[in-house]
Amino acid sequence: SGSPIQKKVLDEAPPLAGTNVMNVVIVACECAPWSKTGGLGDVVGALPKALARRGHRVMAVAPRYKNYVEAWETGVRKVYNVAGQDMEVGYFHAYIDGVDFVFVDSPMFHGWCHDIYGGSREDVLARMILLCKAAVEIPWHVPCGGVCYGDGNLVFIANDWHTALLPVYLQAYYRDNQLMQYTRSVLVIHNIAHQGRGPLSDFGKLGLPDHFRDKFALYDPIGGEHMNIFMAGILTAHRVIAVSHGYAWECQTQEGGWGLDNVMRENSWKLKGVVNGIDDSEWNPEVDKCLVGDGYKQYSSASLETGKAACKAALQKELGLPVRPDVPLLGFIGRLDYQKGVDIIAEAIPWMMGHDVQLVLLGTGRPDLEELLRSFEAKHRDKVRGWVGFSVKTAHRITAGVDILLMPSRFEPCGLNQLYAMRYGTVPVVHAVGGLRDTVTPFDPFTNSGLGWTFDRAEASAMTHAIGNAMWTYKDYKESWRGIQLRGMKQDLSWDHAAQQYEEVLLAAKFQW
Ligand code: ADP
Repeated sequence: SGSPIQKKVLDEAPPLAGTNVMNVVIVACECAPWSKTGGLGDVVGALPKALARRGHRVMAVAPRYKNYVEAWETGVRKVYNVAGQDMEVGYFHAYIDGVDFVFVDSPMFHGWCHDIYGGSREDVLARMILLCKAAVEIPWHVPCGGVCYGDGNLVFIANDWHTALLPVYLQAYYRDNQLMQYTRSVLVIHNIAHQGRGPLSDFGKLGLPDHFRDKFALYDPIGGEHMNIFMAGILTAHRVIAVSHGYAWECQTQEGGWGLDNVMRENSWKLKGVVNGIDDSEWNPEVDKCLVGDGYKQYSSASLETGKAACKAALQKELGLPVRPDVPLLGFIGRLDYQKGVDIIAEAIPWMMGHDVQLVLLGTGRPDLEELLRSFEAKHRDKVRGWVGFSVKTAHRITAGVDILLMPSRFEPCGLNQLYAMRYGTVPVVHAVGGLRDTVTPFDPFTNSGLGWTFDRAEASAMTHAIGNAMWTYKDYKESWRGIQLRGMKQDLSWDHAAQQYEEVLLAAKFQW
């Protein structure tokens, strides 16, 4: 089914999982393309399909925030108690690209599509309790293609604190009652900074036996004594995945663990880092629909030279910058906030403006940083464009058209833009942190290896030093530059590769008692 590229992927699917075929249920509060605020939604949209291609029976579960035309009502209805109140849920189902997508329906979810984490803390908690209680029972109640999954060879994958209650419910309601003895749970950490913290008195709302209270009770300098849902999930899940090796390590440090570093260290035996894949039908310069028209060109590693040059010229023209093939064109794409280090770029602007460069920034977020982008542009009209807005098309065109992509993130669990950049022959210059450190091996002129430039401190001086080296190589060592670009483009950044590593974790969980 689907586009030529999807068909190509299916034809080249890796060998089936053989005797280790599993039933996998992935649960999250975002699932692209239906609901998404960032990387989490992308993962939940793409990982299930990649696991299905490996031969597993796979279901993705997310809330039904509004009507989705693809999904049909199953007729199954169940009632769950949330914070003392009975709530009825329904289930909608769609079978797409080999995956059962199941949407949990309740008035509680309606209308939060564009504000998935919106509302009061109590509201958010109630939604997550309902999602987890409903999801853990889906294998029993909701037939997919006429047959329920049941509990044979079943593994749940929960994501972030929002669904960290699922491993706990699985344990408390089933496994502790000698049910689902062969079912396992894996918890994926996309961002450990959000943990579902609340007063310990909220424990009563969760509907768990009293002896589980200890798993939720944390005392730390950030919150004093409080209820911590992420901690309970980490303690209870059979395995834990962080979205990169670097992030798996950072979560165990005082700076990166946000109060859970002790818990992460004590549970490091069940922790593994797996870098996200990228969606090859969306982010592939050979078939990218955004690179059609206005002078843009689709290109491959074979046509990199002419294709990328055309995209650069088209971007310069579209932005109203001088169309010059020789000037290094730098880009930034991302949420404008402290995490992404936009202020570090701001601090480096005077240095950059002293050089022959062009710079384009695309983003939305903190109003003061949006204003900053506009002011850069006003001050340096011949060199800088600060584009405030959320535009997927522009993001694709910048990724293709710029020479260098800047990512001075203070922390970055995985990061997608550096992966997209490399896929497009654009060279990343990044703060060596989390997933950025995992994926951008620094260029080494002596061995002629590496994929970009990294810097060790999230500071303007460290970044400008790295940019300086990148620009020098761009201008004076064209062969080396070409090598960096081609190595980046030829990597296997696909979900198939990532899914194989997920499968290893699922199997490890399965064989653990
Ligand atoms: P995070 O999830 O922390 O925001 P990621 O790098 O994992 O960061 O993913 C961000 C995604 O959002 C990328 O696909 C990126 O291209 C996209 N994005 C961010 N800001 C914009 C914007 N202003 N316009 C278009 N796409 C954007």
